[in-house]
Amino acid sequence: TGINFDKYDDIPVEASGPNVPPPITNFEDASLNSLLAENISLSGFLTPTPVQKWSIPICSAQRDLMACAQTGSGKTGGFLFPILNFAFDIGPPDDRENENVPGISLRQKIAMPIALILSPTRELATQIYDEARKYCYRSWVRPCVVYGGADINQQIIGAKRGCDLLVATPGRLVDMIQRGVISLKYIQFLVLDEADRMLDMGFEPQIRRIVEQEDMPGVHLRQTLMFSATFPKNIQILARDFLKEYVFLSVGRVGS
Ligand code: ADP
Ligand code: MG
Repeated sequence: TGINFDKYDDIPVEASGPNVPPPITNFEDASLNSLLAENISLSGFLTPTPVQKWSIPICSAQRDLMACAQTGSGKTGGFLFPILNFAFDIGPPDDRENENVPGISLRQKIAMPIALILSPTRELATQIYDEARKYCYRSWVRPCVVYGGADINQQIIGAKRGCDLLVATPGRLVDMIQRGVISLKYIQFLVLDEADRMLDMGFEPQIRRIVEQEDMPGVHLRQTLMFSATFPKNIQILARDFLKEYVFLSVGRVGS
């Protein structure tokens, strides 16, 4: 799997929607936060992949996005780079008081991430989390991961210790929200990664419950990014329901 990175420019890209921001050609064009740029180059990435060339400026322009691209095309960086670029620059929000008050016990703490990435499986969630950790190196942003089929108490302790960017499988997240451990009140970025697989696995009710939550900021404040390898009818409906004035991006050959 994976794309041939030498053949970047042969890959057909379709971008549509109102006022599509133009793609970048290298990371320098994205004027990334210097610490983030350093962390990206430490991970060995020299040039953005095609999906990253488009998604970084689209996301930085505060646009919603529906991106279809094959496995191995670099979608993870496609959403992590612009989200972290935003986060590094704003710094920790000081109104998330319960996080910052010294002396508050771990028991009382509630995780209040600013970015939520939904992923279908434990393996994929862990991969995204591991990548996020590399890019967050030496920054204030604390990534966190929760998934089903593992001890929830350990994950509760982990989330309370620090959770600015949360990677989660839908079922486990609903459970942790119900237990009052995680609040989505401060979410600014919502990513549905491998959206087609999440629907195939039957997660649509949980996803709708999370996305349509009342304590999430209004649709105009939140930016929603959907990534999928295919673009079947059920994903088109989800995009219509969740995204506003979005850019549709299709990289390479995409099935429906
Ligand atoms: P996808 O989510 O589209 O399946 P990934 O984000 O997992 O793809 O990336 C696939 C592989 O490509 C990973 O091994 C990743 O480290 C690598 N990769 C991603 N972006 C770049 C880049 N800009 N330059 C070089 N390698 C990259
Ligand atoms: Mg991926």
